[in-house]
Amino acid sequence: MEILERINFLKDEINKSNYEYYVNENPYLTDFEYDSLFAELKELEEKYPMFRTPDSPTQRVGSVSEKFFPHKHKYRLYSLDNSYNAEDLEKWYERVCKEYNKELELVCELKIDGLAIALTYENGIFVRGVTRGDGVTGEDITQNLKTIKAIPLKLFEPKNLEVRGEIYMPKSSFEKLNQEALQNGDKVFANPRNAASGSLRQLDSTITAKRDLSMFTYTAIFEDETDKTFKTHYDSIQRLKELGFKVNPNIRLVKNIKEVIEYLHEWDSKRFELDYATDGVVIKVNDIAIQKDLGYTARAPKWATAFKFPPEEVKTKLLDIELNTGKTGVVTPVAVLEPVQLAGSTVSRASLHNFDEIKRLDIRIGDDVLIMKAAEIIPKVIKVVESDKHNSLPQYQPPTKCPSCGADLIEKEGQVGLYCSNPDCESLMCAKIEYWASKEAMDIDKVGPSVIQQLYEKKMISNPVDLYKLLPQDFMMLDLIQEKSASNIYVSIQESKTRPLNRLVTALGIRHVGKETADILTGEFPSIEDLKNATLEQLSQVEGIGGIIAQSIYDYFHNENNLKLLDELKELGINPSAKASKVSDKLSGKTFVLTGTLENMTRDEASEIIKSHGGKTSSSVSKKTDYVLAGTNAGSKLDKAQNLGVIILTENDFLEMIK
Ligand code: NAD
Repeated sequence: MEILERINFLKDEINKSNYEYYVNENPYLTDFEYDSLFAELKELEEKYPMFRTPDSPTQRVGSVSEKFFPHKHKYRLYSLDNSYNAEDLEKWYERVCKEYNKELELVCELKIDGLAIALTYENGIFVRGVTRGDGVTGEDITQNLKTIKAIPLKLFEPKNLEVRGEIYMPKSSFEKLNQEALQNGDKVFANPRNAASGSLRQLDSTITAKRDLSMFTYTAIFEDETDKTFKTHYDSIQRLKELGFKVNPNIRLVKNIKEVIEYLHEWDSKRFELDYATDGVVIKVNDIAIQKDLGYTARAPKWATAFKFPPEEVKTKLLDIELNTGKTGVVTPVAVLEPVQLAGSTVSRASLHNFDEIKRLDIRIGDDVLIMKAAEIIPKVIKVVESDKHNSLPQYQPPTKCPSCGADLIEKEGQVGLYCSNPDCESLMCAKIEYWASKEAMDIDKVGPSVIQQLYEKKMISNPVDLYKLLPQDFMMLDLIQEKSASNIYVSIQESKTRPLNRLVTALGIRHVGKETADILTGEFPSIEDLKNATLEQLSQVEGIGGIIAQSIYDYFHNENNLKLLDELKELGINPSAKASKVSDKLSGKTFVLTGTLENMTRDEASEIIKSHGGKTSSSVSKKTDYVLAGTNAGSKLDKAQNLGVIILTENDFLEMIK
């Protein structure tokens, strides 16, 4: 019974982590912690096969979210088995060689810590790119992939093939993105893999285009007879280079496992010199006929395996716990450390998450602590090193006053952490104004944290609206700002007045309303006036907006101070409308769901047309859906529509309707 309980616990924990990692891009375990749980589950299931169920995470690959249109892979994608020690690797090699009675040639490749993708080329033209998803079905993100320069849109030869590779974000770009996010109070990504995945899975491909992403290609399935002659994996990779793909230069053909171990030793430290994150080495049998013969388990090839570099941990001293107040008023603790070398860089600060975590680990200032880099990049404190001095140190007491304004800190129902109770707190206000100016909100690119801080300290602004009241000469009162940059700052603020409604609503910083919710909201309520007049019931009826979010929106638009701010914005000429110019009422009262690829228009364009004829669009099929407009490669939404008996329209049917 105990064993079954443990198995169920492990399954739950792994499923939860999978969801946070693959769907929310917000892992709460390190890969090492995750892999240890996974290895334990695998071992228990091998020992007690009667407890192994088909829905166990050991029997599946990844996870598929519903953010994009699903696409069924033509060829299945797999994960990789992994190990953290050389002995396991030797055992794997022994097992595969035994069947063939000879030493098998292997290929070593760096394991790029990114996101697996399958690209389809027809006659040399890039036609589709799909995430791995659960290996059978992935998300169609072709438009976003087209923004990545390392993905050839046209090959040097008109070939038909599917290639797989890893999309990654260079470490330097990842660090820059996170720095900007920190300044803007945006989501900070835990590692480059999550940053790459988050950047790729944007509904707006212009955001993907702004992120620095690249791709290494590592497998191909050739469909032309003339290309099916490759006998080895290594040769097929060389062919990929000839066709125009980017291939990792550190691939190496080796004779046996001894040479693999040499490769591992070599890259154990050298990998920190690379500008992309690697979490291990992938070892593949070179002979393609043997690969085919060895085949696959439920989730991984038997002819390949991954060696994962164990996470580096180092000991250092916790000198202090620094506190910062963010835009929501939450106070976050950061560890200030005695500088130490970790995974190729000097670390002097690390994440402590929140005060509950400090209490859980009983971290005290002056303790020796172990720090680790989660997926190589963000260091975090993982535990206190046991010592006599620990007990003599005073227990850490969470703050009671805001580190910025000194107001009382309060707890909020259902939220982790401590919040500043003063709505006019300087840090909070500055963070709010920074968010207002951030890329995803009003995008005022010349106004960064330093300009905001100075303007605030000089009492020239106290809220975002004040920015619009400043004149070019006002900015010349700030440090190091000359006439030219003062004028640039002024222009960039004035330009932002024309941003569309969804950006303005994002910028308002309404609790629980980020960019995506703002998009949904402004689709239903196309002006500030409509939002002010919306009842709680109307708000909570919008698909994708639950009760808590609806309440928060309702509260925002019924708060006197906020209404005053909105009036001031209107007076300054900031009052965008999302109302599409009305063409007819032909689709009035009808709700459409769009799925698949349309031939004559994008889904966004179709959605605009529907709105201009008085109709509405929704992201998911339900009984309330009147029509599903289905293009090619429509996925689960089409199945659901069929089950519910919803009318399905082809693109031609739709065009006929609005004629
Ligand atoms: P994986 O990342 O361990 O290995 C398979 C993947 O490696 C492939 O799909 C491919 O994307 C990638 N890869 C990189 N370079 C490659 C190359 N040269 N050749 C072939 N493949 C290459 O497996 P996974 O299924 O993507 O993810 C499972 C892993 O993800 C876990 O082992 C764990 O480390 C991590 N994970 C962590 C959490 C967490 O909460 N921290 C949750 C889920 C998964």
